[in-house]
Amino acid sequence: MKINSNFDNLVPSYLFAKVAEKTEKYAAANPDADIIRMGIGDVTLPLAPIVVEAMKKAADEMGKKETFKGYPSYEGYEFLRNAISGYYSSFGVQVSSDEVFVNDGAKSDCGNIGDIFSADNTVLVADPVYPVYVDTNIMAGRKIIYAPSSKENGFCAMPDRNVHADIIYLCSPNNPTGAAYSKEQLAQWVSYALENDAVILYDAAYEAFITDDSPRSIFAIEGARECAIEFCSLSKTAGFTGVRCGYTVIPKELERNGHNIGKLWYRRQSTKFNGVSYPVQRAAEAVFSPEGQRQTRENIEYYRRNAAVIMQTMDDLGIKYTGGKNSPYVWISCPNEMNSWDFFDILLEKANVVATPGEGFGECGKGCMRFTSFAGYEETKEAMRRIKECWSELTK
Ligand code: PLP
Repeated sequence: MKINSNFDNLVPSYLFAKVAEKTEKYAAANPDADIIRMGIGDVTLPLAPIVVEAMKKAADEMGKKETFKGYPSYEGYEFLRNAISGYYSSFGVQVSSDEVFVNDGAKSDCGNIGDIFSADNTVLVADPVYPVYVDTNIMAGRKIIYAPSSKENGFCAMPDRNVHADIIYLCSPNNPTGAAYSKEQLAQWVSYALENDAVILYDAAYEAFITDDSPRSIFAIEGARECAIEFCSLSKTAGFTGVRCGYTVIPKELERNGHNIGKLWYRRQSTKFNGVSYPVQRAAEAVFSPEGQRQTRENIEYYRRNAAVIMQTMDDLGIKYTGGKNSPYVWISCPNEMNSWDFFDILLEKANVVATPGEGFGECGKGCMRFTSFAGYEETKEAMRRIKECWSELTK
């Protein structure tokens, strides 16, 4: 018996453990400190009432013989896939319901999709990066190359025509940098993917936060249907982090080496996945109803107002940042070219505020810090007030 030795190549993930350890140590030494956590990546507002009602109603149906449901279909109930297709139409993108695969969240499929690709493909990710793309491909033994996201390109990594990749992960709006690709930038990635016969794995988990004309979907770009798969999630859109529901879109025309990718994915899912529960799918359907959209948008507006408070503070202090506008994340450059862990310590000690050091997401995150807008409004305002108040001391 042998263990998959690729696991030996995983770099231990210290980031959140180290943040928690440092914060706990400080709290233990300073029991009166009122620490505000601006590093959280989880939502904090409850589900919309219409979602809760739909889930309860579905639970009641499951309790009656006439309406009880057993195994759901592998790809999701038609009512939900139709609702998702309608949601895409609402922002001008055509995706048919039989191109939608319902899942238990974007993280699973961002990793699982690798099952249908050979281990000798080269994978391109941006640096800094959502770690799931890297670790799942290390587990599969694939070679990984990095495209730098930096101040120079506005933290939107762009393709290098001299470098070949087979699989390209893009995340827009981005975690951790909050930056969103423009239509022109995405068009460059689509043309690079087509030239390289590559497949783009597009993570749109934060699309609902977009406020400007940045594309909400890769399929808003011409040619993307021939080279892209999209992952989306209700986690941040509708507070489903604890409910678990997302969806993957694979266009019918997407083929490689004589294989239809959607059919391969269906084969994979029907072998390893038994679907998402009926009450969860009914809850997800409610999100896409007009009233569901109105109610879930209220929560997004709440986080957006927090992001505006963070952005205003950074503007007042003359600090450069990306994100906030189209994203719950605000990614700032640490003052005086400071290293992000040093800045983390100073923020914690002087302002009792916790943020996430950028270098935990990759080399290019050195010297940056990620603030999230998922804390409460009053907490966010207080955290920013403290940062402003002690700024001269912070940057001494
Ligand atoms: N993709 C990105 C970029 C994320 O930041 C996250 C969660 O933080 C996910 C996917 C995971 O989403 P889900 O909760 O749907 O698994």
